[in-house]
Amino acid sequence: MNYRILLFYKYITFAEPQKFVEEHLKFCHEHDIKGRVWISSEGINATVSGLTANIEKYKNEISSYPEFSDLWFKEDPYFEHAFNKIHVRLKSEIVNASFGEVDLNKTGKYLSPEKLNELYESGKDFIIVDARNEYESAIGKFRNAITPKMETFRDWVKVASDLKDQREKTIVTYCTGGIRCEKASAYLVEQGFKDVYQIKGGIWNYIKQFPDKYWEGSMFVFDERRIVTPNKSEELKHIGECYYCGKKTSYYINCHNQVCNKMIITCHECKVTNDYCCCEGCRNSVNKRTAYHG
Ligand SMILES: [Zn+2]
Ligand SMILES: [Zn+2]
Repeated sequence: MNYRILLFYKYITFAEPQKFVEEHLKFCHEHDIKGRVWISSEGINATVSGLTANIEKYKNEISSYPEFSDLWFKEDPYFEHAFNKIHVRLKSEIVNASFGEVDLNKTGKYLSPEKLNELYESGKDFIIVDARNEYESAIGKFRNAITPKMETFRDWVKVASDLKDQREKTIVTYCTGGIRCEKASAYLVEQGFKDVYQIKGGIWNYIKQFPDKYWEGSMFVFDERRIVTPNKSEELKHIGECYYCGKKTSYYINCHNQVCNKMIITCHECKVTNDYCCCEGCRNSVNKRTAYHG
């Protein structure tokens, strides 16, 4: 475990993103840092991996920019790189919301993992809603959470509209590390929701502190780990259901018919039996991947 995976973001008005991209990419090449770093005038959003010593230098480097001096680095130990390459890109938004400008000074209030537990234990009526996509919530969610069928983050507009009769209620939003909820919760506030919270540090922060509690199943991650399974107890370990046999699992594949490419949650046995395909048609397709079945 001599590698680290770092997750961090910050929304900030950033003056010279292009200059930063060039300097940053150079630094990453020199220190064997891999992963994805999105930069825009609205801030930074990154997941990277590297040797622990290099990650320490990387943190110092980023923090040397006054704009990023107070970044919160979320760290996981790992045994190798979690990415193949480094991508440092200039984007129009660090999270593609496409639902227009929201006022990031008027987001939902931060709710710590401890306070979320207290809320569950208080018996108070509240709504907890997943701000991630359906393929993420299919393998893990908070207890009693609403898991909207979102294909992309843009669908949050519809989620807010579906919840509009509940505007007086306490609403808690969550996502992987918190970045999407800054916008998602701000959007709810803007739409007139009265008591909006976002989980501080997202699922990542919660499961680190409270495994086997109110988080059920696995967390989808955007690096080579693909999933993180924090719970030990049998009933909370997996909540996803095998597409073929219904067995509980968190594992998923994309259908090997490249034209289909549908994401399927599957147990290992059914994956092999079905030749990595979602249906008969895909199994017989000329577009089926023939490469090795890893
Ligand atoms: Zn199965
Ligand atoms: Zn298919």
